[in-house]
Amino acid sequence: MDQVANDGSDRPLLLIADADSHKRAALGHAMRCAGFRVQPAADLATCMEVLERTRPDLVLVDAGLSDHGGAELGRRLRSVTDAASTPIIMLMGHKDLDAIGEARAVGTIDFLDRATHPSLVEHRVRTTIESCASLLSLDGSELAPPSDAAHPVADRRVLERVIAQVMGFDERVAVLCITAVDEGSAALSSDDVQRALDRFSEESPMESPLGMVRVVPTSPDHVTIVVSGIARLQDVGRLAACVRDTASVPACEGSGAGPRAIAVGVSTAPDDADAPARLVDNALAAMRTAALQQEGCVRFHDEALNRWSVARLNLEQDLRAAIANDELVVHYQPKVDIDSLRVVGMEALVRWEHRQLGTIAPDQFIPLAEETGLIIPIGQWVLETACAQTRRWQDAGFAPVRMGVNLSPVQFRQPDLLEVVERTLVETGVEPRWLELELTEGMLMQEVTSTMDCLRGLGDLGVQLSIDDFGTGYSSLSYLKRFPIDTLKIDRSFVRDVTENSDDAAIVTSIILMAHGLKLNVIAEGVETQSQLEFLRVLRCNEIQGYLISAPVPAEKARELLDRPD
Ligand code: C2E
Ligand code: MG
Ligand code: MG
Repeated sequence: MDQVANDGSDRPLLLIADADSHKRAALGHAMRCAGFRVQPAADLATCMEVLERTRPDLVLVDAGLSDHGGAELGRRLRSVTDAASTPIIMLMGHKDLDAIGEARAVGTIDFLDRATHPSLVEHRVRTTIESCASLLSLDGSELAPPSDAAHPVADRRVLERVIAQVMGFDERVAVLCITAVDEGSAALSSDDVQRALDRFSEESPMESPLGMVRVVPTSPDHVTIVVSGIARLQDVGRLAACVRDTASVPACEGSGAGPRAIAVGVSTAPDDADAPARLVDNALAAMRTAALQQEGCVRFHDEALNRWSVARLNLEQDLRAAIANDELVVHYQPKVDIDSLRVVGMEALVRWEHRQLGTIAPDQFIPLAEETGLIIPIGQWVLETACAQTRRWQDAGFAPVRMGVNLSPVQFRQPDLLEVVERTLVETGVEPRWLELELTEGMLMQEVTSTMDCLRGLGDLGVQLSIDDFGTGYSSLSYLKRFPIDTLKIDRSFVRDVTENSDDAAIVTSIILMAHGLKLNVIAEGVETQSQLEFLRVLRCNEIQGYLISAPVPAEKARELLDRPD
């Protein structure tokens, strides 16, 4: 790669990203006078071009580069392996303060007011580069091969300084110490760890579950990772497991090095320790305990956290196997017409029949499936199973009913969702009008253009769309006009006390009136009593679903509820 850093100049290179040409020029001039080399950029695309060619020592980005431009630049920067550890300082005004959280999550090291005097900017830039420099020079790509006993390592003080710096802008930080267990196996290199990090971010279903991840080669036999911008602690456990699995195959082939067991020790602030030195000690201690297990393992230093993390990782592994082992089943709950009480629809609800733990409700494993991306195969399996069931019932001569299938936001973000739905319908021979996809309000508020395209596509296909748990999500209702929605499902929480609580009654009444005004079908979820049914009937709600009619039941039982055509 044509790296400016190698062109003989030892003056640090700054990337100055600002859409305002005057400010960009003024700051660039000041920094050049201060002895820096400057690469200006007016937009994200130019920044990315620059990053392809060079590796700046620091990025100064204006928060207003574009909508979310500052944070977006950080995110992209973190995805360019070479630049993943480049420090970022964001310039902002009072109006941008809301953006701090997002920027911090993608690893912005520091924030400065736009009005800060150039000499102060220079000072901050210099100290930031200095404190990161010892690490940058130890990046994996520049390391001597791991077999070389003399390869450079960061000393403990450098590591602690990095941790202290990270803790200065993020209170939740994790330190992972990683080693190869068997004495005879190849030593662990930063490359091994970097490979694991790349795989982790590729496989993550959520965008950047972890903010900034820095790899520090701390001794000839272990490597340390410092993580900040942690949205959920379980992602740290998952990262650790990914490192354990990926790094067990050494990066440097040819040396005859075979697979080896990897031990990872994890310590987190503030749960476990709140000083850098303690964090490092605890992670090392956990790593040594982990290394006692010959097959390699992940250990959190904090005992409670360790139990929790082990249980989660085990459950995740079980869930991975659940589809193949036929442990998932779909139950069906009828939706009935409020006047005739005839079944007009069914909702497919997944259950997990775990071999040791018994039946696990979706609320217990859908969130895990979403975090791990397993919801994609699971959701697809539910869709196929429900459509195939619909086909079987129709073939058996029952009057056709709509089959409701819940979609997770993660599935909704898949670019091939439309194709998957279309293919499933074709393969199972179900007409699109008998499939009803249940969405949530939150899903409709994200990235409106692509949402719109996807929903239009589904609508054009002839699939029915309903809004599940209506009334609990965002309050903007304009999407009801813009999207091809067919049905609103009033959330159970409003139905529960609808006959006693006047607020709930008012909410349910207005939802029904609004739905009818917009020519939408409306169904009440969670109807358990006759008086709720009567109340909803007076309000002209179209359909109900709930224990009063039937709980979700296995397919054989649900079949007994279906009508034969007269
Ligand atoms: P949901 O889609 O709103 O489903 C309705 C939930 O209410 C179901 O819980 C159902 O068993 C329960 N329910 C139905 N009638 C009554 C009633 O009269 N009283 C009470 N108290 N509860 C009632 P379940 O099956 O535990 O599912 C919970 C949630 O899990 C579902 O909420 C849905 O969001 C999600 N889920 C279930 N299956 C799937 C799936 O295949 N894919 C996805 N993405 N999510 C699913
Ligand atoms: Mg539902
Ligand atoms: Mg619901």
